[in-house]
Amino acid sequence: IDDRLYRNVLGSFATGVTVITTEVDKMVHGMTANAFMSVSLKPKLVAISIGENARMLQHIKDSKQFAINILSANQQNKSKQFAGQLKSESEVTFTYFKGLPILDDSVAVITCDLHSEYVVGDHTIFIGHVTGVKLEQNDPLLFSQGKYRELKALEESETTI
Ligand code: FAD
Ligand code: NAD
Repeated sequence: IDDRLYRNVLGSFATGVTVITTEVDKMVHGMTANAFMSVSLKPKLVAISIGENARMLQHIKDSKQFAINILSANQQNKSKQFAGQLKSESEVTFTYFKGLPILDDSVAVITCDLHSEYVVGDHTIFIGHVTGVKLEQNDPLLFSQGKYRELKALEESETTI
């Protein structure tokens, strides 16, 4: 399978965007990730997938906890910054929730203790046991076909019987 075609196919699965945050030795680290999913309700478990070259991999192994900040439509620059895609980075202010650094103005935040980890190919899947959740009234940032997008409600289709 052609590599470019493969990426284009995977990129056609539209997702939200998260920034994973954690703290090690009083240093805050963040990384943009869209490989996130809900795994289990009882117990409450979620999964993220981190590439083998990402610094975040070791940070989560060290801290054994992480927060998932689900980004809002006005946080596109945060997504770029935490993916290392901005030429000039600005200082980011974090607040604390359940002992973890989080980003203000996110749509939602999920804090986790590390439950388990699985090396799968060139990524590690971290399963998080949810310790707290927070929800705001913001629209989400979307990512599809390599571009950031905003949510647009479809007009209700007329039903003719
Ligand atoms: P670093 O390179 O250390 O950090 C990333 C950037 O965040 C750097 O520019 C750094 O300066 C900045 N930063 C970190 N901490 C702070 C702080 N405290 N204050 C201010 N700035 C800070 N990769 C995956 O492995 N899994 C995914 O699911 C995934 N999804 C992605 C989705 C999208 C939409 C994009 C654009 C990228 C995605 N990536 C994903 C790629 C990943 O975001 C990048 O490879 C990232 O640069 C790897 O970061 P790192 O852990 O090596 O951290
Ligand atoms: P892209 O065209 O490289 O990626 C398209 C899609 O392919 C992504 O949305 C993702 O589903 C998949 N993908 C890309 N790189 C991957 C990787 N290293 N591991 C697993 N899946 C991957 O470009 P883009 O969507 O504009 O992404 C921008 C940058 O962010 C690229 O450098 C990409 O590698 C990285 N990224 C990494 C992951 C990941 O590691 N899971 C996910 C999305 C984006």
